[in-house]
Formats: sequence, structure tokens, C-alpha cells
Amino acid sequence: MSVPIWSQPRIAIVTGGGSGIGVAVSERLAADGAAVAVFDLDGESAAATAAGIETAGGTALAVVCDVADRAAIEAGVAETVERLGRPTILINNAGITPFGRFLEISRESFDQVIAVNLRGTFEFCQVVIPHMVEEGWGRIVNISSSSAQTGNFGQTHYSASKAAVIGLTKSLAKEFGRKGITVNAVPPSFVETPSLHRAAEAGQLGRGIEEHIPTTPVRRVGQPADIAAACAFLCRDDAGYITGQVLGVNGGRVIV
Ligand code: NAP
Repeated sequence: MSVPIWSQPRIAIVTGGGSGIGVAVSERLAADGAAVAVFDLDGESAAATAAGIETAGGTALAVVCDVADRAAIEAGVAETVERLGRPTILINNAGITPFGRFLEISRESFDQVIAVNLRGTFEFCQVVIPHMVEEGWGRIVNISSSSAQTGNFGQTHYSASKAAVIGLTKSLAKEFGRKGITVNAVPPSFVETPSLHRAAEAGQLGRGIEEHIPTTPVRRVGQPADIAAACAFLCRDDAGYITGQVLGVNGGRVIV
């Protein structure tokens, strides 16, 4: 006997679904049976993720969308409703990961990281939550970062944006719990994605990715599937008593 994941068909939106963690989350939710709208700035990568899901027998839709553009969010969500149905699962994963010494960070760079990582998450929630309220059920997972918990050298703007995502998550959980909507945050640490490789190539990870394995309690680099598994768990029907929580998926690198 197995416990059903959902009592009825679910439609999910995954932002930044064209690369790294977003691909794994999209594929995992689709494998669990959700129809997945894969949103990304890059239409080709979103289409590739959606095509992979369809080839594996799932249902997916690719949507080109800049999460920093409110009109694009509204249009993308409307397209999702029309083609798949009301979204009741939202994974706010799209993010940018700039590095820079504090005294050299420009206002433009600060504004951009806030616009994508924080305002994008905030506005996606504003546009999608009414559909969840209408359905009386919803699951939101906001991808934060361990740097929000620990701070990170050279990432004041990024860490601030990701810490704010945790505050947003906790407040939304309090406001919408009564509507059947849970809101949780997953702060990853050191997950092998194109973004991590770019940071390594730019010399932002010391001597490279491998150097950090001995200091990671589980002695390996995180994989996108590790984050996807946590998101899938938080989106289940039977995770309905978990809300406003911060579930670190970090191999024990950060224990708070
Ligand atoms: P990634 O491989 O760079 O993927 C991020 C995706 O988001 C890309 O497809 C990117 O599109 C998209 N994106 C960026 N800006 C966007 C925008 N304005 N609108 C829509 N899509 C946009 O990065 P990742 O490592 O998988 O990271 C995913 C999330 O996890 C991010 O929020 C990141 O901060 C967080 N995170 C990752 C790690 C890690 O170790 N990997 C650690 C902590 C937190 P383009 O490629 O076209 O730019």
C-alpha cells in the first residue's frame, strides 16, 4: 500500500526551470504526476526541460518569463491557467548569484539582485496565490541560500536578497495557512549546477569545488536532485502541517 502524493491533479510552476536546480525540480514534480509550467528567461532552455518531461511521459509547458517583469509574470501565469489549469504549486527558484566586494557593489547591481531574487519571488506569489485561494490548497517553496543563514564573503547584496526571501516566506505562511496554503523556504548550499561551475571558474570558490568536499559532513557536493527531493516533499498533500519553515539542504555544511 502506498500513500498518494496528491488527492487530485496538480499544476506546478517552476521559475528558472531551464537550468540547474530548476530542471531537477521540474522533472521531479512531473515524475510525481504534476503538470509543470517551466518558466525561464531563456526560452530555449525552458523548452528543453519541458521537452524532456514530455519525452518521459509527463505534461509540461515552457514559458519565457523574466521574473523581474510583473507584466511577464501575469502573462505567463495566464498562459499556464489557459493551457494547463490553475497553478497550485509554485517553486520560486530563478535567481542570480553575483559576487562583489561590498564597497564596490553598484546600486544597479544591488537593484538587479533584489529585483530578481526578492521582488520576483514576491510578485510571483502575488500573482499565483489567488489561484491557490480559489482552489483552497497551495504549496509554495522559495529557494533561498545558505548564505542567508551564514553570510558569505563578497555576497552582501545576494545574501540580503536571500535572507529577505526567508522573511517573506514566514510572513506568507502566517497569512495564508488558513487558506490551505503552505509556504516554506529551502536554502541550498554548494549544489553542482552551471551557476556553481561559473563561480568556480571565476575563482570565487577558493581552489575549486573539490576543495570543499572534506569540510562537508556528508563528503560530497550537493546535486540538483537533492533540492528537488526536498521541494517534492514539501509539496505533498501530507506535508500540510509544515509551513513557515526553513529546510536546509546542505549536506550538513550549515546546521542552525
Ligand atoms: P542556474 O543554473 O544559474 O539556474 C538559474 C536559472 O534561473 C537559469 O535558468 C536562469 O536563466 C534563470 N534566471 C535567472 N534570472 C532570471 C530571471 N530574471 N527570470 C527568469 N529566470 C531567470 O542556478 P542554480 O544554481 O540552479 O540556482 C537556482 C537557485 O538556487 C537560485 O535562486 C540560486 O540563488 C539558488 N542557490 C543555488 C546554490 C547552488 O549551490 N547552486 C546555492 C544556494 C542557492 P539564464 O541561464 O538564462 O540566466
